[in-house]
Amino acid sequence: MKALTILLCFLSLFNFSFFKTDNQKTNFVLYDGEIKNIFIHSLIAYPDILQTKAKNTIATYHTDCIDYVEFENLLDELYKNNYVIVDIHKTFTTENGMTKKCKVKVPRGKKPVVIGVDDVVYDPKKSGNGMVDRLCVDSNENIYTETLIDGKIDKKYDREFAPILENFLTLYPSFSPFGDRITINLTGFCGILGYRISDKNEMVRNAETEKAQVVVDRLKQLGYTFACHSYAHYHTKKVSAEFVKQDFADWQRYIEPVIGKTKVFVYPYGEWELVNSNQISEKQKVLIDFGFKLFLGVGIYDFYGYMPLSKNINSKILFADRKPIDGYTLFHRQNELNKLFDCKKVLSNFAKLRQKFIA
Ligand SMILES: [Zn+2]
Repeated sequence: MKALTILLCFLSLFNFSFFKTDNQKTNFVLYDGEIKNIFIHSLIAYPDILQTKAKNTIATYHTDCIDYVEFENLLDELYKNNYVIVDIHKTFTTENGMTKKCKVKVPRGKKPVVIGVDDVVYDPKKSGNGMVDRLCVDSNENIYTETLIDGKIDKKYDREFAPILENFLTLYPSFSPFGDRITINLTGFCGILGYRISDKNEMVRNAETEKAQVVVDRLKQLGYTFACHSYAHYHTKKVSAEFVKQDFADWQRYIEPVIGKTKVFVYPYGEWELVNSNQISEKQKVLIDFGFKLFLGVGIYDFYGYMPLSKNINSKILFADRKPIDGYTLFHRQNELNKLFDCKKVLSNFAKLRQKFIA
């Protein structure tokens, strides 16, 4: 036994890899710095089609969204700047009822970035404006998009976040060292991912739910996760606690059975009301009671910590801000965003058209 110990010590002096812990062997570290958290909306998939629409439509899309070329450029830039994609669920943990931020494992020299996509409704009322109509899965289990253009279905593998990220990872698998992907922050009022799973007509609803389930299952298998962005996409300040309760009941009825439970709540419009009359608001209590553990807002600066900041209120709500990456911020928040990537290298040729529409 003694001889074996001596032998082991001797070998370890030469740094034999089988003596290393898992972390050392694979050169991973637990990252303790600020976790960058960004989000986009569904991409402008057909900028040329959008260009033919009314001025206010063009302005809205170019303010709130980026186009598919810019998303490719964004991934390129993040990768070049040593970011790796990390799922939001890996950034927090709940122990003994207390939710806390945690360190995330990344390859040595790399930094984590969390990416979210909000809404992903593909509302039929907005169809034909330059976004795709739905996400689909082909017979080889690849994600693609379908869009009705001039009476024909256009099938593409490079116009929306999921197929673009999958293409990118085929070339640069080390961007996702642990198989993490994007978190899709869904609403429910008009279904999900282009499927009308909350339709009033039961036959429509059931047929659409069946189709949506195939896409959700494949996305989950690939590593995508889902979070709740409310059912109705309401303005928090304008609704009551009762409304929030009903909203989540609708979410539980139509959306949760398809995507599963989530602990992450993404405030619609980034509007939140944690405190009211010096105590945790009734609306916030409803969300806490429904089991949400991490709350996500919108903000150009990094914040990931406990709220409210007031010492007089004895409540610790884990809250993180997310930087919107859209036509507006790529032009007007370059100082902040340039810390992550070079905005000029992300902007596409289509963005030149955008400038005249963004105040
Ligand atoms: Zn939204």
